[in-house]
Amino acid sequence: MAITREGRICSFCGEPGGPGTDLQLMGGLGAQVCARCIDDFHEMLHDEELRAAARGASPWDSMTDAEMLATLPMILSSAEQNLAFAHEWVDLLRTRRVSWAEIGRALGVSRQAAWERFARKTGDKGATA
Ligand SMILES: [Zn+2]
Repeated sequence: MAITREGRICSFCGEPGGPGTDLQLMGGLGAQVCARCIDDFHEMLHDEELRAAARGASPWDSMTDAEMLATLPMILSSAEQNLAFAHEWVDLLRTRRVSWAEIGRALGVSRQAAWERFARKTGDKGATA
């Protein structure tokens, strides 16, 4: 099983990207970032005025309720993308025959808790492995 960027969104602006689109996504740990956001953040990092502005009020302080409501689905999409990535990661570990006990230990939970959280999605019935 391969983890792909197909169907992913930029975790920072919510734009869909990856293969089949003209928006290049990069990232790790489930979070993805598009080239446009990288350029924007790069510009901010190298412009003292923009950096100073970013240290000020949070962007949501000046957002209207409608803007905040419009952002909510994108926040959830990003969170769901990260959770889906965690499931894919566990699937990958299981295809490598990593045991539920080892996965649970990495998460600081029991083997059973790890299996209950991740196996139902994968159909993995090997709670004892
Ligand atoms: Zn972006």
